[in-house]
Amino acid sequence: MRRTGDLKLIQELNRFIILDTIRQFGPISRSDIAKKQGISPTTVTSAVNELIRDGMVAEDGTGESKGGRKPIMVRFCPDGKFLIGVSITNTAITIAEMNLEAATKQKKIYPVKAGLVSDLIIQYVLDSIGDFLQSVDDVSRCLGISIIAPGIVDAASGVIRFNSKLRLHDVPLKDMAEERFGLNTWLDNDANAIALAEKNFGGGLNADNLLFVTVGEGVGSGLVVNGSIFRGSRGGAGEFGHTTVDRSGMRCDCGNVGCLENYVAWPAIYSGILSAVTRGKETLVMDLADGDMTRITFDVFRQALHQGDQVCQDIVDEIASYMSIGIVNLVNLFNPSLIILGGEMIRDNQVLFERIQKQVMAQAMGTMVEGLEFRPTVLGADFEVKAAAAVLLQDVFHFSL
Ligand SMILES: [Zn+2]
Repeated sequence: MRRTGDLKLIQELNRFIILDTIRQFGPISRSDIAKKQGISPTTVTSAVNELIRDGMVAEDGTGESKGGRKPIMVRFCPDGKFLIGVSITNTAITIAEMNLEAATKQKKIYPVKAGLVSDLIIQYVLDSIGDFLQSVDDVSRCLGISIIAPGIVDAASGVIRFNSKLRLHDVPLKDMAEERFGLNTWLDNDANAIALAEKNFGGGLNADNLLFVTVGEGVGSGLVVNGSIFRGSRGGAGEFGHTTVDRSGMRCDCGNVGCLENYVAWPAIYSGILSAVTRGKETLVMDLADGDMTRITFDVFRQALHQGDQVCQDIVDEIASYMSIGIVNLVNLFNPSLIILGGEMIRDNQVLFERIQKQVMAQAMGTMVEGLEFRPTVLGADFEVKAAAAVLLQDVFHFSL
């Protein structure tokens, strides 16, 4: 039995190496694939036939003859199969049909009503996927569903271990989705998945040690260490928002005091603005929100900041200072070569980005910051579903685009 298993694994592995060779170098002839990868021509031929049958590869004209018949070329068909990417956040479920290059073919956003937590949110996620699948042409071409979610996620067993805001404990979402839709399903933590997408699709920097840090409604991070996502023993690694920056600070939902998230995420910014207003400070934020506290959003904050509002600048100084403390700790602990900053707070906020970069470079250990690069996220508006796609494509094909 063992031998058959090994043989099957080798065939499968060869098939993916061949597919990836066609993807990277196609149009390419079968004999050139064999030469490039040192795989026998017979194996290449049978794998290519299978890939053509699956719609992932197509024949594409003839190449130059090197004596004898002109070789038939084959190329990769990224639209031959698709996957369903799903992103769960506290405010919306985003679902997209994506091709094998993580390009979005169609996307729908299902808003999450306030108070939709626990079993209800899980039911809503599954119902939304069910609704979305109605709009998909041919489910038999679907490779599977890849779901990303905030909180502590055990990717290996496909279980959401813990999410305080959505009140989730030990939810076997992978099994639930597989049972209901009959499609292979992947589940991972959102920040981990984004870190992976940044590594695999993020512009070829190919950093094997990178930190992705996100600041928005909350704070999260994904750590790529020696080329792989660093998960910790229960899938909980990367809870950057709950690292301590003040030992006598504010009490946090997690039970500790002085957690980073409570100083830099949106609720903290919002209450910072309100307290400045109550103290009688002049701020453009109130004008931009027409005097209505409930209309103060990220965009309003950003706009006021761009117009040089002092209250907002002070808040950005404060965020930069707390974020830098946290990131310096990560730099000294993990010695990354690349730090990627993302999330609503960083988006279109060059001032904050530069301040964090400057402070980290000044405060982390000298050897650690030699050659250390900072950059904003490059995944664009579809970053969540791209991240979901990265998890599946990495697992199935080991694709780096
Ligand atoms: Zn905490």
